[in-house]
Amino acid sequence: MKKEFIIAGNWKMNKTVEESIDFIKELDDKIEANEGVRILIFPPFTSIYSISNLSDKIKIGSQNIFYEDRGAYTGEISPLMLKNLVDYVLIGHSERREIFKELDSDLNKKIKTALRHKLNPVLCIGETLEQRERGETLKRIKKQIDEDLKGLKAQEIKSIIFAYEPIWAIGTGETASPAQAQEVHGFIRKLLEEKVENPEDIFILYGGSVKPENSFDLLSQKDINGALIGGASLKVDLFSAIIETSCKIAK
Ligand code: PEP
Repeated sequence: MKKEFIIAGNWKMNKTVEESIDFIKELDDKIEANEGVRILIFPPFTSIYSISNLSDKIKIGSQNIFYEDRGAYTGEISPLMLKNLVDYVLIGHSERREIFKELDSDLNKKIKTALRHKLNPVLCIGETLEQRERGETLKRIKKQIDEDLKGLKAQEIKSIIFAYEPIWAIGTGETASPAQAQEVHGFIRKLLEEKVENPEDIFILYGGSVKPENSFDLLSQKDINGALIGGASLKVDLFSAIIETSCKIAK
């Protein structure tokens, strides 16, 4: 069966407006359009407006969203402000969970808000090193999925993109081995089997120190449908090399 991929770059708190524009133009020049590979960039909010219409080959998402439409929420961004600018929203990145103390109950509200506004949530889940060492990885993943998806209908769950990101592999240079990643991706797919028909259609991305050198082995795993990339998405050469790898496998 032909494999399709999403290759997503999370820029986090990096790149000015000018740097973002230069990056998108350079990447657009460098890559071929490929039906089997969707390319997403999550820039800082300040760059979204300037790059949202720069390339037909690159889709734009926001790194966060607030769960209310308007009101006294200083510093937050409403889905109404993102409409027509982005199609995707990152929800529950481990940095949001850990540094900004976002709870699964907050993420559940954010997912519902995104869906209400026809934005596709990219939901991040993953375990800490301590949880992995205690043998609690799958239990942790199940708990996050159960709580984050609480009250959602099957049809809504189908428009969510999942990103498995072991926290110990984010920004550390350590990557889950392809077998470790596949084990968790297969488990997520099994959990989704209980919630939706055709769970094989759902995209489950892997994130955690993905680089050109390890991307082929990770993306070749049966249940890995793409990558969410932090560090290597900041350099056009590295990010486009991973895109090229995915294009070769998607063929
Ligand atoms: C991330 O921030 O989602 C991520 C996976 O970062 P990195 O690729 O740098 O590990």
